[in-house]
Amino acid sequence: MAIKLAKRMERLGTETAFEVLARARQLEAEGKSVVHLEIGEPDFDTPQNIIDAGVEAMRGGFTHYGPSAGMADMRAKYAESFARDRGVACTPEQVVITPGAKPILYFVITALLDEGEECIYPNPGFPIYESVINFVGGKAVPLPLREENDFSIDHDELRALANPNTRLIILNSPQNPTGGLLSMDDLKVIAEVAKANDAWVLADEIYSHIVYEGRHHSILEIDGMAERTIVLDGHSKTYAMTGWRLGYGIMPEALSPVIGRLMTNVNSCTAAFTQVAGAEALLGDQSGAEAMVKEFRARRDMLVQALNEIEGVSCKLPGGAFYVFPNISGVGMESDEFQKRLLEDYGVAALAGTAFGAHGAGYLRFSYANSQENLREGVARMARFVEDLARV
Ligand code: PLP
Repeated sequence: MAIKLAKRMERLGTETAFEVLARARQLEAEGKSVVHLEIGEPDFDTPQNIIDAGVEAMRGGFTHYGPSAGMADMRAKYAESFARDRGVACTPEQVVITPGAKPILYFVITALLDEGEECIYPNPGFPIYESVINFVGGKAVPLPLREENDFSIDHDELRALANPNTRLIILNSPQNPTGGLLSMDDLKVIAEVAKANDAWVLADEIYSHIVYEGRHHSILEIDGMAERTIVLDGHSKTYAMTGWRLGYGIMPEALSPVIGRLMTNVNSCTAAFTQVAGAEALLGDQSGAEAMVKEFRARRDMLVQALNEIEGVSCKLPGGAFYVFPNISGVGMESDEFQKRLLEDYGVAALAGTAFGAHGAGYLRFSYANSQENLREGVARMARFVEDLARV
């Protein structure tokens, strides 16, 4: 029987990574070999000190409901770590702890964007931005990120897109899917545009600890931005804690109870023992996280070099996150079809750039959260595919 869904469900998008992962698993169940380069999930285990803290917390009775915005002492610890890392002031009342960082995105857009109001977001970009903007009835205004700008923003284009109906500007640095970074100059322009139009900024900094060139800059470092910025961060990527579901937002104190109310309605609270483990992640031994970044850097260097050796493919060296975004416009096939054939016929799961928006056409996204051996195998299979294409 066909289910009659509420109209608004027509406006809710999805994340192709999960669909490609499901298809790849299906192929594996049929006995096919697949190299997984699709999902944005570190292939490392959560560092032991964090697991120990979580287990101890569970044994110690952190198994009950708690305040919706997070336990007071944990909010204090998250604030301490945030202030230390970003070099900005942060009070416990500015912190809201959520199950994963995705809820921060969903709640902030729901709380701030009225129907018809505009939200500028990066394209190609994390697909959930566009999905949620559309879902709440906002107007999604893509800000193209182009390879010729090292996948950063075009300042004049941003100035031209913004207007008094712009309520929210979303930025993401280091960026998914391109691995690009925003410079302090870029952030200053975003700040200037936000102030001029009285808009909010949602700064997705979930990859802030995975930076290879220079250092991560937060828009909160700019005077006057704390009152109109929500920083989204989380534990999934930096601490290989995807399955724990733990993230947080840093926002003006007056906004925290609003996001807390959304938490009360949706999740009640974030698991108590998870919050405790999260504090250990932020304030405890960082050697596990540092070792992951070191390995990601080695993989990035190897992968970019190998991709650039394929005829018709060119790949920039990304400054952060664990993705590469090779340009495949020279291979003679559109990226959606290439993604499909690469998986079905050559056993490499990757994502078409268009999974991240129309401006991703002509690109692929590889996540290098996989061993160097598997990455080499994935590129070798792709090279074979490109050779086969050139032959026909
Ligand atoms: N933001 C970006 C840019 C991401 O790539 C992701 C995960 O892929 C998230 C937010 C959400 O991460 P999580 O909900 O696992 O914390």
